[in-house]
Amino acid sequence: MAGKPRDSLDRFAREKLDALEAQALRRRLIETDRREGAVAFRDGRRLVSFCCNDYLNLSQNETVKRAAMEATEKYGTGSGASRLVSGNHPLFRELETRLADWKQTEDCVVFGSGYMANLGIIPALMRESDLIIADELSHACLLSGSKLSGARVEIFRHNDMTHLESLLAAHREGAGHCLVVTDGIFSMDGDAAPVAAMADIAAQHDAWLMTDDAHGIGVVGQEGRGSSFMGETKADVPLQMGTLSKAIGAYGGYLCASAPVADFIRTRARTLIYSTGLPPGTAAAAIAALDFIKANPDYCCRPVEKARAFTRALGLPDPESPIVPLILGDAEVTLTASKLLEAEGYLVTGIRPPTVPAGTARLRFTFTAEHDDADIARLAAIVRERILSRRAAE
Ligand SMILES: *Cc1c(COP(=O)(O)O)cnc(C)c1O
Repeated sequence: MAGKPRDSLDRFAREKLDALEAQALRRRLIETDRREGAVAFRDGRRLVSFCCNDYLNLSQNETVKRAAMEATEKYGTGSGASRLVSGNHPLFRELETRLADWKQTEDCVVFGSGYMANLGIIPALMRESDLIIADELSHACLLSGSKLSGARVEIFRHNDMTHLESLLAAHREGAGHCLVVTDGIFSMDGDAAPVAAMADIAAQHDAWLMTDDAHGIGVVGQEGRGSSFMGETKADVPLQMGTLSKAIGAYGGYLCASAPVADFIRTRARTLIYSTGLPPGTAAAAIAALDFIKANPDYCCRPVEKARAFTRALGLPDPESPIVPLILGDAEVTLTASKLLEAEGYLVTGIRPPTVPAGTARLRFTFTAEHDDADIARLAAIVRERILSRRAAE
């Protein structure tokens, strides 16, 4: 009988995969190596990537790379254990201080990744008797963290402040604490949350606001400080979370918050306590990237400017971030469009459910500081003539 459970496990996996394949929802990892600027090689072919979140191309920046190599030479490749066990590397403190200064908060806590940050922060703050209210398009890890906390979760329609207020009016009173969560810049849509208005609404209802600025940090707001800094004055967001893995060009997650909140998170967030600290080279890379951004604040505007050149060429509304979605609806149509662009030398991944809601499969274009204007113009022309015109004719 040996091997039987294994057979059923393999059968389970195969049947699930076949069903996903039939709906054009199977996912595959495709070998691609990334190089300088926005260039990637796939099957030996040089492609210009419009699907990478390395908005400032800092993962390829010489100074940033050198900082990572020097820290690795000096301190080794791994950090050995959780920061609470093997000791907190001085690079972590330096990185956290840099981030807190930049975001103008009292303190900051760095995590292994953005995903881990949300899985740690939300359950540390919220429990069964509490209430979480989340935008329906919030990133998967905000929703996973919310679920893990055991709190009641209510979802409001995307960026709909009236709906948020009505949920607060209906449910806030019966709950202990209340947390409102949203992406600052929405990862698959590229639009911004009305963070200042949300901060006011949350304050009126005695709720804590948490923004996930994975796609905002480094590219939007005053000098790239993120979505809390997009208005005339800084929005009052007590929990500003984000990632070091996108515009910062390294890896890791962070929470910028007040000193007591940061201390509490260090004491209670399970993904910080029970997971190994970032490699020293990664922390050093993030520090060097933040130094670069501070010295070159204008550089942070470039990804959105590049995105704007693209939307203007297509007659689309101006973008609020470096992310421009082109919703095609059908998953198969989206994959075909993505293949067409790849044949033309452009890497633009199709995004399908469940990453986005059913029926809203899309091409997601992301723009970086180093994209060539001629490539953007040519990409827009191909999209207009071979993807949009065909749809209009259908
Ligand atoms: C990418 C992303 C994350 C996860 O960050 P990682 O550092 O890649 O784990 C979290 N939230 C949002 C909105 C993201 O886009």
